Amino acid sequence: GSNFDAYLIKKDFPILNETVNGKPLIWFDNAATTQKPKAVIDRIAYFYEHENSNIHRAAHELAARASDAYEAAREKVRVFLNAGSVNEIVFVRGATEGVNLVAESWGNHKLVAGDEIIVSHLEHHANIVPWKRLADKKGLKLSVIPVDDDGQILLDEYAKMLNSKTKLVAFTQVSNALGTITPAKQMVDMAHAVGAKVLLDGAQSVSHMKVDVRYLNADWLVFSGHKLFGPTGIGVVYGKEDLLNEMEPYQSGGNMIQDVTFEEIKYHKAPNRFEAGTGNIADAIGLGAAIDYISKIGIEAIGQYEHYLLEYATHLLKQIPGVRLIGTAAEKASVLSFTLDGFTNDEVGKALNREGIAVRTGHHCAQPILRRMGVETTVRPSLAFYNTCQDVDVFIETLWRLKTNK
Ligand code: PMP
Repeated sequence: GSNFDAYLIKKDFPILNETVNGKPLIWFDNAATTQKPKAVIDRIAYFYEHENSNIHRAAHELAARASDAYEAAREKVRVFLNAGSVNEIVFVRGATEGVNLVAESWGNHKLVAGDEIIVSHLEHHANIVPWKRLADKKGLKLSVIPVDDDGQILLDEYAKMLNSKTKLVAFTQVSNALGTITPAKQMVDMAHAVGAKVLLDGAQSVSHMKVDVRYLNADWLVFSGHKLFGPTGIGVVYGKEDLLNEMEPYQSGGNMIQDVTFEEIKYHKAPNRFEAGTGNIADAIGLGAAIDYISKIGIEAIGQYEHYLLEYATHLLKQIPGVRLIGTAAEKASVLSFTLDGFTNDEVGKALNREGIAVRTGHHCAQPILRRMGVETTVRPSLAFYNTCQDVDVFIETLWRLKTNK
Protein backbone atom coordinates (compact mmCIF):
# COMPACT_ATOMS: atom_id res chain seq x y z
CA GLY A 1 0.00 0.00 0.00
CA SER A 2 3.05 2.29 0.07
CA ASN A 3 2.55 4.07 -3.28
CA PHE A 4 -1.18 4.54 -2.78
CA ASP A 5 -1.85 8.15 -1.78
CA ALA A 6 -4.89 8.06 0.48
CA TYR A 7 -4.12 11.61 1.66
CA LEU A 8 -4.54 12.91 -1.88
CA ILE A 9 -7.68 10.84 -2.38
CA LYS A 10 -9.15 12.20 0.84
CA LYS A 11 -9.17 15.67 -0.71
CA ASP A 12 -11.67 14.47 -3.30
CA PHE A 13 -14.28 13.88 -0.57
CA PRO A 14 -15.64 17.21 0.76
CA ILE A 15 -17.35 15.66 3.79
CA LEU A 16 -14.01 14.39 5.10
CA ASN A 17 -13.24 18.04 5.97
CA GLU A 18 -16.01 18.01 8.58
CA THR A 19 -15.20 18.22 12.25
CA VAL A 20 -17.12 16.23 14.83
CA ASN A 21 -16.82 17.26 18.49
CA GLY A 22 -13.99 19.53 17.40
CA LYS A 23 -12.04 16.64 15.87
CA PRO A 24 -11.50 15.86 12.19
CA LEU A 25 -14.09 13.34 11.03
CA ILE A 26 -12.77 9.80 10.65
CA TRP A 27 -15.26 7.84 8.60
CA PHE A 28 -15.06 4.19 9.59
CA ASP A 29 -18.66 3.35 8.75
CA ASN A 30 -18.10 2.43 5.12
CA ALA A 31 -19.95 -0.87 5.27
CA ALA A 32 -23.09 1.08 6.16
CA THR A 33 -22.55 3.72 3.51
CA THR A 34 -19.62 5.36 1.77
CA GLN A 35 -18.84 9.04 1.29
CA LYS A 36 -19.14 10.70 -2.11
CA PRO A 37 -16.34 12.28 -4.12
CA LYS A 38 -16.89 15.81 -5.41
CA ALA A 39 -17.08 14.38 -8.93
CA VAL A 40 -20.27 12.52 -8.01
CA ILE A 41 -21.84 15.49 -6.21
CA ASP A 42 -20.99 17.77 -9.14
CA ARG A 43 -22.35 15.33 -11.69
CA ILE A 44 -25.74 15.19 -9.97
CA ALA A 45 -25.86 19.00 -9.75
CA TYR A 46 -24.91 19.21 -13.44
CA PHE A 47 -27.81 16.94 -14.33
CA TYR A 48 -30.33 19.15 -12.56
CA GLU A 49 -28.76 22.33 -13.95
CA HIS A 50 -28.35 21.25 -17.57
CA GLU A 51 -30.08 18.00 -18.43
CA ASN A 52 -33.10 17.42 -16.22
CA SER A 53 -35.96 15.79 -18.07
CA ASN A 54 -37.89 12.59 -18.01
CA ILE A 55 -36.38 10.01 -20.34
CA HIS A 56 -37.49 8.16 -23.47
CA ARG A 57 -40.76 9.98 -23.82
CA ALA A 58 -40.32 13.21 -25.68
CA ALA A 59 -38.56 14.37 -28.78
CA HIS A 60 -36.94 17.40 -27.24
CA GLU A 61 -33.34 18.29 -26.48
CA LEU A 62 -33.33 17.81 -22.72
CA ALA A 63 -35.12 14.45 -22.99
CA ALA A 64 -32.33 13.37 -25.30
CA ARG A 65 -29.63 14.64 -22.89
CA ALA A 66 -31.23 12.91 -19.91
CA SER A 67 -31.79 9.66 -21.82
CA ASP A 68 -28.25 9.64 -23.14
CA ALA A 69 -26.75 10.28 -19.71
CA TYR A 70 -28.95 7.60 -18.09
CA GLU A 71 -28.06 5.00 -20.73
CA ALA A 72 -24.39 6.00 -20.55
CA ALA A 73 -24.54 5.22 -16.82
CA ARG A 74 -25.97 1.81 -17.61
CA GLU A 75 -23.06 1.18 -19.96
CA LYS A 76 -20.59 2.23 -17.24
CA VAL A 77 -22.15 -0.34 -14.90
CA ARG A 78 -21.94 -2.96 -17.65
CA VAL A 79 -18.23 -2.34 -18.14
CA PHE A 80 -17.62 -2.19 -14.38
CA LEU A 81 -19.18 -5.64 -13.92
CA ASN A 82 -17.92 -6.96 -17.27
CA ALA A 83 -21.47 -7.93 -18.24
CA GLY A 84 -22.05 -8.97 -21.85
CA SER A 85 -24.88 -6.54 -22.59
CA VAL A 86 -26.51 -3.40 -21.20
CA ASN A 87 -29.76 -5.38 -21.33
CA GLU A 88 -28.45 -7.26 -18.32
CA ILE A 89 -28.24 -4.14 -16.15
CA VAL A 90 -31.45 -3.19 -14.34
CA PHE A 91 -31.57 -0.05 -12.20
CA VAL A 92 -33.35 -0.49 -8.86
CA ARG A 93 -33.32 1.30 -5.50
CA GLY A 94 -30.57 -0.81 -3.98
CA ALA A 95 -29.47 -4.30 -3.05
CA THR A 96 -32.59 -4.84 -0.95
CA GLU A 97 -34.91 -4.05 -3.82
CA GLY A 98 -32.73 -6.21 -6.07
CA VAL A 99 -33.17 -9.32 -3.92
CA ASN A 100 -36.90 -8.62 -3.60
CA LEU A 101 -37.16 -8.28 -7.38
CA VAL A 102 -35.57 -11.68 -7.96
CA ALA A 103 -37.62 -13.30 -5.18
CA GLU A 104 -40.84 -11.95 -6.68
CA SER A 105 -40.25 -11.99 -10.45
CA TRP A 106 -38.43 -15.32 -10.52
CA GLY A 107 -38.96 -17.11 -7.20
CA ASN A 108 -42.64 -16.45 -6.73
CA HIS A 109 -43.43 -17.46 -10.31
CA LYS A 110 -41.04 -20.33 -10.93
CA LEU A 111 -40.73 -22.17 -7.62
CA VAL A 112 -43.19 -24.77 -6.34
CA ALA A 113 -43.76 -26.53 -3.01
CA GLY A 114 -40.92 -28.91 -2.21
CA ASP A 115 -38.29 -26.89 -4.05
CA GLU A 116 -35.23 -25.97 -2.00
CA ILE A 117 -33.49 -22.64 -1.48
CA ILE A 118 -30.08 -22.32 0.18
CA VAL A 119 -28.65 -19.22 1.82
CA SER A 120 -25.48 -18.89 3.92
CA HIS A 121 -25.29 -18.18 7.63
CA LEU A 122 -23.38 -14.99 6.78
CA GLU A 123 -26.26 -13.22 5.06
CA HIS A 124 -27.52 -9.72 5.67
CA HIS A 125 -31.25 -9.65 6.50
CA ALA A 126 -31.83 -8.36 2.95
CA ASN A 127 -30.76 -11.77 1.63
CA ILE A 128 -32.66 -13.77 4.26
CA VAL A 129 -36.04 -12.18 4.82
CA PRO A 130 -37.31 -12.20 1.19
CA TRP A 131 -36.37 -15.90 0.88
CA LYS A 132 -37.83 -16.86 4.24
CA ARG A 133 -41.10 -15.13 3.34
CA LEU A 134 -41.17 -16.83 -0.05
CA ALA A 135 -40.41 -20.21 1.52
CA ASP A 136 -43.22 -19.80 4.05
CA LYS A 137 -45.66 -18.64 1.39
CA LYS A 138 -44.94 -21.40 -1.11
CA GLY A 139 -43.88 -24.35 1.03
CA LEU A 140 -40.23 -24.27 -0.03
CA LYS A 141 -37.42 -25.68 2.07
CA LEU A 142 -34.91 -23.04 3.21
CA SER A 143 -31.50 -24.38 4.26
CA VAL A 144 -28.50 -22.54 5.69
CA ILE A 145 -24.85 -23.17 4.82
CA PRO A 146 -23.00 -23.30 8.15
CA VAL A 147 -19.75 -21.47 8.92
CA ASP A 148 -16.78 -22.35 11.12
CA ASP A 149 -15.73 -20.41 14.23
CA ASP A 150 -13.71 -17.98 12.10
CA GLY A 151 -16.80 -17.15 10.06
CA GLN A 152 -15.83 -19.08 6.95
CA ILE A 153 -18.21 -21.07 4.76
CA LEU A 154 -18.03 -24.84 5.38
CA LEU A 155 -17.74 -25.98 1.78
CA ASP A 156 -18.07 -29.70 2.57
CA GLU A 157 -21.36 -29.06 4.36
CA TYR A 158 -22.53 -26.93 1.45
CA ALA A 159 -21.68 -29.72 -1.00
CA LYS A 160 -23.81 -32.14 1.03
CA MET A 161 -26.80 -29.79 0.97
CA LEU A 162 -26.94 -29.47 -2.82
CA ASN A 163 -29.32 -31.85 -4.59
CA SER A 164 -31.69 -32.02 -7.54
CA LYS A 165 -34.38 -30.17 -5.58
CA THR A 166 -32.08 -27.19 -4.99
CA LYS A 167 -33.38 -24.41 -7.21
CA LEU A 168 -31.54 -21.42 -5.82
CA VAL A 169 -28.43 -20.59 -3.83
CA ALA A 170 -28.35 -16.99 -2.59
CA PHE A 171 -25.23 -15.79 -0.78
CA THR A 172 -22.97 -12.84 -0.22
CA GLN A 173 -19.50 -12.28 -1.65
CA VAL A 174 -18.45 -10.35 1.45
CA SER A 175 -20.07 -10.45 4.89
CA ASN A 176 -21.03 -6.99 6.10
CA ALA A 177 -20.81 -8.11 9.75
CA LEU A 178 -17.51 -10.04 9.73
CA GLY A 179 -15.78 -9.10 6.48
CA THR A 180 -15.46 -12.74 5.35
CA ILE A 181 -14.87 -13.12 1.61
CA THR A 182 -16.69 -16.24 0.38
CA PRO A 183 -15.29 -18.53 -2.34
CA ALA A 184 -17.98 -17.25 -4.70
CA LYS A 185 -16.80 -18.72 -8.00
CA GLN A 186 -16.45 -22.20 -6.55
CA MET A 187 -19.84 -21.97 -4.82
CA VAL A 188 -21.53 -20.80 -8.03
CA ASP A 189 -20.05 -23.72 -9.97
CA MET A 190 -21.16 -26.19 -7.31
CA ALA A 191 -24.74 -24.86 -7.45
CA HIS A 192 -24.82 -24.96 -11.24
CA ALA A 193 -23.65 -28.57 -11.18
CA VAL A 194 -27.02 -29.53 -9.66
CA GLY A 195 -28.96 -27.17 -11.93
CA ALA A 196 -29.61 -24.48 -9.31
CA LYS A 197 -29.57 -20.77 -10.03
CA VAL A 198 -27.36 -18.41 -8.03
CA LEU A 199 -27.95 -14.92 -6.69
CA LEU A 200 -24.84 -13.15 -5.45
CA ASP A 201 -25.13 -10.29 -2.98
CA GLY A 202 -22.45 -7.85 -4.11
CA ALA A 203 -23.42 -5.07 -1.69
CA GLN A 204 -20.11 -5.32 0.21
CA SER A 205 -17.88 -6.65 -2.55
CA VAL A 206 -18.08 -4.21 -5.46
CA SER A 207 -16.27 -1.45 -3.55
CA HIS A 208 -13.36 -3.69 -2.49
CA MET A 209 -12.56 -6.08 -5.33
CA LYS A 210 -12.95 -6.67 -9.05
CA VAL A 211 -16.37 -8.23 -9.57
CA ASP A 212 -16.56 -9.83 -13.00
CA VAL A 213 -19.99 -11.32 -13.60
CA ARG A 214 -18.87 -13.27 -16.65
CA TYR A 215 -16.09 -14.92 -14.67
CA LEU A 216 -18.25 -15.54 -11.59
CA ASN A 217 -21.07 -16.78 -13.82
CA ALA A 218 -23.79 -16.08 -11.22
CA ASP A 219 -27.30 -15.76 -12.60
CA TRP A 220 -27.95 -12.52 -10.74
CA LEU A 221 -25.82 -10.07 -8.78
CA VAL A 222 -27.21 -7.15 -6.80
CA PHE A 223 -25.53 -4.11 -5.27
CA SER A 224 -26.27 -0.62 -3.92
CA GLY A 225 -24.82 2.58 -5.34
CA HIS A 226 -24.44 4.24 -1.95
CA LYS A 227 -21.90 1.64 -0.80
CA LEU A 228 -19.89 2.28 -3.97
CA PHE A 229 -19.26 6.02 -3.38
CA GLY A 230 -22.43 6.83 -5.34
CA PRO A 231 -25.80 8.20 -4.26
CA THR A 232 -28.49 6.57 -2.15
CA GLY A 233 -31.66 5.34 -3.80
CA ILE A 234 -29.95 3.70 -6.76
CA GLY A 235 -28.71 0.16 -7.16
CA VAL A 236 -28.34 -2.57 -9.73
CA VAL A 237 -29.60 -6.02 -10.54
CA TYR A 238 -27.32 -7.75 -13.01
CA GLY A 239 -29.07 -10.76 -14.55
CA LYS A 240 -28.32 -13.05 -17.45
CA GLU A 241 -30.29 -11.69 -20.39
CA ASP A 242 -32.33 -14.79 -21.30
CA LEU A 243 -33.20 -15.35 -17.67
CA LEU A 244 -34.34 -11.75 -17.16
CA ASN A 245 -36.58 -12.02 -20.21
CA GLU A 246 -38.18 -15.18 -18.80
CA MET A 247 -39.00 -13.42 -15.53
CA GLU A 248 -42.28 -11.71 -14.72
CA PRO A 249 -42.26 -7.95 -14.30
CA TYR A 250 -41.71 -6.69 -10.75
CA GLN A 251 -43.74 -3.51 -10.63
CA SER A 252 -45.91 -2.48 -13.57
CA GLY A 253 -47.06 0.72 -15.19
CA GLY A 254 -45.41 3.13 -17.60
CA ASN A 255 -42.00 2.60 -19.22
CA MET A 256 -42.07 -1.19 -19.04
CA ILE A 257 -44.75 -1.91 -21.65
CA GLN A 258 -44.54 -2.34 -25.39
CA ASP A 259 -48.26 -2.19 -26.02
CA VAL A 260 -51.34 -1.76 -23.87
CA THR A 261 -54.97 -2.44 -24.64
CA PHE A 262 -57.65 -3.30 -22.11
CA GLU A 263 -57.54 -6.83 -23.49
CA GLU A 264 -53.81 -7.48 -23.52
CA ILE A 265 -50.50 -6.09 -22.27
CA LYS A 266 -47.17 -6.71 -24.00
CA TYR A 267 -44.09 -6.07 -21.88
CA HIS A 268 -40.73 -4.77 -22.95
CA LYS A 269 -37.72 -6.99 -22.66
CA ALA A 270 -35.10 -6.38 -19.96
CA PRO A 271 -34.01 -3.98 -18.64
CA ASN A 272 -37.12 -1.78 -19.25
CA ARG A 273 -39.35 -4.69 -18.26
CA PHE A 274 -38.18 -4.13 -14.68
CA GLU A 275 -38.03 -0.34 -14.67
CA ALA A 276 -41.69 0.64 -14.30
CA GLY A 277 -42.40 4.32 -13.80
CA THR A 278 -39.94 7.20 -13.70
CA GLY A 279 -36.70 5.91 -12.29
CA ASN A 280 -34.04 7.59 -10.23
CA ILE A 281 -32.44 9.20 -13.28
CA ALA A 282 -30.13 11.67 -11.54
CA ASP A 283 -28.73 9.12 -9.13
CA ALA A 284 -28.16 6.50 -11.81
CA ILE A 285 -26.05 9.14 -13.55
CA GLY A 286 -24.36 9.86 -10.21
CA LEU A 287 -23.55 6.17 -9.87
CA GLY A 288 -21.98 6.30 -13.33
CA ALA A 289 -19.75 9.15 -12.12
CA ALA A 290 -18.78 7.10 -9.04
CA ILE A 291 -17.75 4.21 -11.27
CA ASP A 292 -15.68 6.58 -13.41
CA TYR A 293 -13.97 7.87 -10.27
CA ILE A 294 -13.18 4.40 -8.92
CA SER A 295 -12.03 3.13 -12.29
CA LYS A 296 -9.51 5.96 -12.56
CA ILE A 297 -7.89 4.85 -9.30
CA GLY A 298 -8.35 1.18 -10.12
CA ILE A 299 -10.35 -1.29 -8.07
CA GLU A 300 -7.37 -3.67 -7.75
CA ALA A 301 -5.19 -0.88 -6.30
CA ILE A 302 -8.03 0.02 -3.93
CA GLY A 303 -8.36 -3.59 -2.78
CA GLN A 304 -4.62 -3.92 -2.18
CA TYR A 305 -4.42 -0.71 -0.17
CA GLU A 306 -7.44 -1.64 1.93
CA HIS A 307 -5.92 -5.01 2.64
CA TYR A 308 -2.77 -3.34 3.92
CA LEU A 309 -4.90 -1.03 6.09
CA LEU A 310 -6.90 -4.00 7.40
CA GLU A 311 -3.74 -5.88 8.39
CA TYR A 312 -2.35 -2.80 10.10
CA ALA A 313 -5.57 -2.19 12.06
CA THR A 314 -6.05 -5.87 12.94
CA HIS A 315 -2.51 -6.15 14.27
CA LEU A 316 -2.92 -3.10 16.53
CA LEU A 317 -6.43 -3.98 17.67
CA LYS A 318 -5.38 -7.46 18.79
CA GLN A 319 -2.80 -5.95 21.17
CA ILE A 320 -5.47 -4.19 23.25
CA PRO A 321 -6.35 -6.41 26.22
CA GLY A 322 -10.00 -7.43 26.26
CA VAL A 323 -10.58 -6.95 22.55
CA ARG A 324 -12.38 -9.89 21.04
CA LEU A 325 -12.27 -9.93 17.26
CA ILE A 326 -15.43 -11.42 15.76
CA GLY A 327 -14.73 -12.85 12.33
CA THR A 328 -11.21 -14.08 11.71
CA ALA A 329 -11.47 -15.56 8.23
CA ALA A 330 -8.27 -15.98 6.21
CA GLU A 331 -9.86 -14.04 3.35
CA LYS A 332 -11.35 -10.78 4.56
CA ALA A 333 -12.42 -7.41 3.23
CA SER A 334 -11.70 -4.34 5.38
CA VAL A 335 -14.33 -4.88 8.06
CA LEU A 336 -13.37 -5.29 11.73
CA SER A 337 -16.02 -6.50 14.16
CA PHE A 338 -15.14 -6.63 17.84
CA THR A 339 -16.23 -6.33 21.44
CA LEU A 340 -14.22 -4.85 24.33
CA ASP A 341 -14.37 -6.48 27.77
CA GLY A 342 -15.76 -4.19 30.45
CA PHE A 343 -17.59 -1.92 28.03
CA THR A 344 -20.85 -2.15 26.15
CA ASN A 345 -20.58 -1.72 22.41
CA ASP A 346 -22.60 1.44 22.81
CA GLU A 347 -20.04 2.86 25.24
CA VAL A 348 -17.23 2.09 22.81
CA GLY A 349 -19.15 3.71 19.94
CA LYS A 350 -19.77 6.85 22.00
CA ALA A 351 -16.14 7.08 23.11
CA LEU A 352 -15.04 6.86 19.47
CA ASN A 353 -17.62 9.45 18.41
CA ARG A 354 -16.22 11.89 20.99
CA GLU A 355 -12.97 11.70 19.01
CA GLY A 356 -14.74 12.22 15.68
CA ILE A 357 -14.62 8.56 14.70
CA ALA A 358 -17.76 7.09 13.12
CA VAL A 359 -18.27 3.34 13.54
CA ARG A 360 -21.40 1.27 13.57
CA THR A 361 -22.48 -0.52 16.74
CA GLY A 362 -25.35 -2.99 16.74
CA HIS A 363 -26.36 -6.15 14.94
CA HIS A 364 -25.59 -4.78 11.44
CA CYS A 365 -28.80 -6.32 10.04
CA ALA A 366 -27.11 -9.72 10.28
CA GLN A 367 -28.42 -11.22 13.51
CA PRO A 368 -28.05 -14.91 12.57
CA ILE A 369 -24.29 -14.70 11.96
CA LEU A 370 -23.59 -12.61 15.07
CA ARG A 371 -25.52 -15.11 17.19
CA ARG A 372 -23.58 -17.92 15.53
CA MET A 373 -20.41 -16.15 16.71
CA GLY A 374 -21.83 -15.92 20.23
CA VAL A 375 -22.72 -12.22 20.38
CA GLU A 376 -25.79 -10.06 19.85
CA THR A 377 -23.97 -6.94 18.70
CA THR A 378 -20.45 -5.70 17.90
CA VAL A 379 -18.52 -2.52 17.27
CA ARG A 380 -17.76 -2.44 13.54
CA PRO A 381 -15.18 -0.14 12.01
CA SER A 382 -15.16 -0.66 8.25
CA LEU A 383 -12.40 0.90 6.18
CA ALA A 384 -12.25 2.42 2.72
CA PHE A 385 -9.48 3.67 0.46
CA TYR A 386 -9.75 7.27 1.77
CA ASN A 387 -8.87 6.08 5.28
CA THR A 388 -5.23 6.27 6.38
CA CYS A 389 -2.92 4.60 8.89
CA GLN A 390 -3.12 7.85 10.84
CA ASP A 391 -6.91 7.41 11.10
CA VAL A 392 -6.30 3.89 12.39
CA ASP A 393 -3.79 5.23 14.94
CA VAL A 394 -6.32 7.73 16.33
CA PHE A 395 -8.88 4.93 16.59
CA ILE A 396 -6.46 2.59 18.37
CA GLU A 397 -5.26 5.32 20.77
CA THR A 398 -8.86 6.11 21.69
CA LEU A 399 -9.51 2.48 22.58
CA TRP A 400 -6.32 2.30 24.66
CA ARG A 401 -7.31 5.45 26.55
CA LEU A 402 -10.80 4.12 27.17
CA LYS A 403 -9.34 0.86 28.45
CA THR A 404 -6.73 2.42 30.75
CA ASN A 405 -8.98 5.14 32.23
CA LYS A 406 -11.52 2.68 33.56
N1 PMP B 1 -26.43 -7.00 1.61
C1 PMP B 1 -25.38 -6.66 2.33
C2 PMP B 1 -24.24 -7.64 2.47
C3 PMP B 1 -25.31 -5.40 2.93
O1 PMP B 1 -24.25 -5.06 3.65
C4 PMP B 1 -26.40 -4.50 2.76
C5 PMP B 1 -26.39 -3.13 3.40
N2 PMP B 1 -25.92 -3.09 4.72
C6 PMP B 1 -27.48 -4.92 1.99
C7 PMP B 1 -27.46 -6.16 1.43
C8 PMP B 1 -28.65 -4.04 1.77
O2 PMP B 1 -28.30 -2.90 1.06
P1 PMP B 1 -29.30 -1.67 0.98
O3 PMP B 1 -29.71 -1.33 2.38
O4 PMP B 1 -28.50 -0.59 0.33
O5 PMP B 1 -30.46 -2.10 0.14
